[in-house]
Amino acid sequence: MTYPAPVKSAFAIEPADRMKRLPEQFFASLVSKVNHQISLGHDVINLGQGNPDQPTPPHIVAALQEAAPNPLYHKYPPFSGYRFLKEAVAARYKEDYGVDLDPDTEVAVLFGGKTGLVEISQIMLGPGDVCLVPDPGYPDYWSGVALAGAEMAFMPLRESNAFLPDYSALSPRELERAKLMFINYPNNPTGATAPVSFYEETIRFAAKNGIAVVSDFAYGAIGFDGKRPVSFLEQPGAKEVGIELYTLSKTYNMAGWRVGFALGNPELVRLINLMQDHYYCSLFGGIQAAAATALTGPQDCVRELVAMYESRRNAFYGALSDIGWQALPSPGSFFAWLPVPKGFTSAELADTLLERANVMAAPGIGFGRNGEGYVRIGLLSSEDRLKEAVSRIGGLNLF
Ligand code: PMP
Repeated sequence: MTYPAPVKSAFAIEPADRMKRLPEQFFASLVSKVNHQISLGHDVINLGQGNPDQPTPPHIVAALQEAAPNPLYHKYPPFSGYRFLKEAVAARYKEDYGVDLDPDTEVAVLFGGKTGLVEISQIMLGPGDVCLVPDPGYPDYWSGVALAGAEMAFMPLRESNAFLPDYSALSPRELERAKLMFINYPNNPTGATAPVSFYEETIRFAAKNGIAVVSDFAYGAIGFDGKRPVSFLEQPGAKEVGIELYTLSKTYNMAGWRVGFALGNPELVRLINLMQDHYYCSLFGGIQAAAATALTGPQDCVRELVAMYESRRNAFYGALSDIGWQALPSPGSFFAWLPVPKGFTSAELADTLLERANVMAAPGIGFGRNGEGYVRIGLLSSEDRLKEAVSRIGGLNLF
């Protein structure tokens, strides 16, 4: 844990129960392990996190520089964000996916996708309600559900089912209480992508059971081998049952800028805007202007970024096969999901790689029970560093 210890004083701060329900932030403990190794003077190759390593394209940075002095942006922005930004994301969805979105009623501006997925649980869930959550899955889904005081029913993602959930395995009792579900393709942590038929099945399942869908499309731009990932919103009926969360963090290397969107179902968009009216006053106008430039400007930077990740993926899996670590290359996202060799748990393997090879991988158990048996590698270092990481691991003779 990296959080400071509680300060002792005569006056005891007694937080609300919801704070006690919040799980430990998984990535915080990973970071502290890496920092410890670095403090000992080791050259750690940190592949344990999902932080894009490349800078934001210069034309987007220039757009912020140009917008920053504009006095209009020094005032409070409109509560739900500038219309030009909502128009920009609608135009991008039209061009990329053929999806029509009404900027006024079907787009909410978020402080990154993470905010949206925690908010949507507050909006939809309370005690006694159930949220369907992928296992393994992005740990922030759990945070929102915990804050809401609701329960989770896990949907196992198994390699034998292409890392897609099997809706028929959910019990009638869980389905009766389920009000919300998260799906996420291209997937973190498995790197799997989903076919059109999966989204069609999801929409039928959600409509039949009255469950609102959140399609977390954080890696929507990152698909390999010439295959563009499919958007949930492309499928007929999607807007009736849910929203898609989109973010500029990965597509344009803008993780630090905090720009995301909730798109689709007008009632969910209205509720998100209502909640945000009470929390925030939208993003700095200059950031909104730069975000609109990202979405409406030339998209070569996105194609180049995807080509770079694909080339890294190929180099990395090529090196893995040389040391005898057999794994199927991920079709999307910037993650590799690798089976743990016999004799190790995922946490033991991650500790061994860190302590003996100075390579940080995220143990699969951190993403849920069904993540056990795997480690996640982020392809977020240069090809040379990725190959160096594999060669160090090869030196341990684990395969
Ligand atoms: N969903 C998934 C699956 C992610 O991996 C991330 C970022 N790591 C997010 C959502 C949130 O991204 P952001 O808040 O930067 O938009």
